[in-house]
Amino acid sequence: MGEYILGVDLDGVCGDHATAFRNAVAADRGIDPAELPAQQTWNFTEWGLDRAAFEVLHRRAVMEHRMFRSMPVIPGCADALWRLSDAGISIRIITHRLYTNWGHSVAVTDTVDWLDANAIPYRDLCFMGDKTDVAANAYVDDAPHNIDALRAAGAEVLVFDQPYNSEVTGPRALSWFEVEHWVLDQVTRDGNAVQAPIGFADSAIGRLPNHLPQTGGPSPESMGEH
Ligand SMILES: [Mg+2]
Repeated sequence: MGEYILGVDLDGVCGDHATAFRNAVAADRGIDPAELPAQQTWNFTEWGLDRAAFEVLHRRAVMEHRMFRSMPVIPGCADALWRLSDAGISIRIITHRLYTNWGHSVAVTDTVDWLDANAIPYRDLCFMGDKTDVAANAYVDDAPHNIDALRAAGAEVLVFDQPYNSEVTGPRALSWFEVEHWVLDQVTRDGNAVQAPIGFADSAIGRLPNHLPQTGGPSPESMGEH
C-alpha cells in the first residue's frame, strides 16, 4: 500500500493525563489524590479551577512535578502501536504540549524520554496546536475540539473514550485493542493489503529498550519514582 499514516494524540490517548495531573495538583495542595473528584469536564471545573488557575497548576505539573515524564501509560498502547507499525502503518505522534511558555525544553525532553521508556514506536513526532495541518490518513484523539476540527477538515477520526467526550459522535474506542481493529479495518476497507509482520527475533515491546544505548537515561523501572 502507499504509506498509511496514523495520527496519534498523546494526552488522554497514550498517556493517562488525568491521573498524572491529579497527582501533581494533589502534591501542590498537600492533599491525597483521592480527595479530588473524578475528572468529568475537559477544563477540570470539578476541581474548582478557572482558566488562570488551571494554567498555573498545569505549568507547575509540567515544570516541577515533571508530569510528562512520570505519566502512567494507557494499557495496551505500546503493544497495539507496535503491531500496527509492523503491519506497515506509519505512526505519527501529534501533541499540543508546547503551551507552557519557557518550558519547551522540559516538555519536549520529558515527552521523548517517556516515549522511549514506555517503548512506544513512532516515525514522526509533531508538537502542533492545529492538528489539521499534519496530513495523516486517520487520527485517534480524545479532545472534543480537536475531533470537531479534524472532522470539519474531512479527516477520519476515532474518538478515544474519556468522560469529557461522551457527547461526541463515534466511531469510538474503549481500549487500544479497539483502536487497533478500527485502524486495520480502515486500511483494508480502502483495498489496501496489510503487510505481514516482519519476523523480528525479539518481542515488539522489548525491541526499543533493547536497542537504546545504556547511558544511564531513564528506564521504565526508574520512571515511576518521581
Ligand atoms: Mg489529548
